[in-house]
Amino acid sequence: MKAELLKQAFEGQKHAHAPYSQKYIGAAVLMDNGKIYNGCNVENASYGGTVCAERVAIFKAISEGAKKIKEVAVVSNEKNPWPPCGFCRQVIAEFASPETMVHLANPQGQSRSLKFTELFPEAFEPAHLQKP
Ligand SMILES: [Zn+2]
Repeated sequence: MKAELLKQAFEGQKHAHAPYSQKYIGAAVLMDNGKIYNGCNVENASYGGTVCAERVAIFKAISEGAKKIKEVAVVSNEKNPWPPCGFCRQVIAEFASPETMVHLANPQGQSRSLKFTELFPEAFEPAHLQKP
């Protein structure tokens, strides 16, 4: 699934709107319904209105009825594989498990795969808000 997920992330990257940073990011998430949703970063002149590719992909999936993230891929046009920012890690934590695999790749084919818990140990998760 990693290869297909990375392919879909690169497809998403083609639509990146990044006139300010010139960082073209794509992401794809495999969800519990078996579907893959992709996204790109969408920057905004206000900067604060910018949304990362990972969150675009996740919000597309959730808004279409998917519930849980099974696997994540993030790609960029940078030399080194591009990791999700802290904000996106928190959003991934809402829908993923510690065992969810996260794949990071660059256009040269270099990639790195790690468990979400390695990327974001001791995440603040929905379980923290459940009543004792
Ligand atoms: Zn982000």
